[in-house]
Amino acid sequence: MWLKACPRCHGDLFIEYLPDGEEITCLQCGHHLPTAMTAKLVARTSRRRARRGATAHTASAHHVA
Ligand SMILES: [Zn+2]
Repeated sequence: MWLKACPRCHGDLFIEYLPDGEEITCLQCGHHLPTAMTAKLVARTSRRRARRGATAHTASAHHVA
């Protein structure tokens, strides 16, 4: 969920998981984001997840050492 991120009406965006990928849609106006912008927002979100994964990896490496 991205608040006030709609380029058209500054409404709230939410993500839908489709069989062939994700689609980001505006709650207020129903605007579908272009694929490139969807990918950018998804990448920004998953980077946070990746950092958490890196921390876990460091912890396990320390455990091995
Ligand atoms: Zn909108």
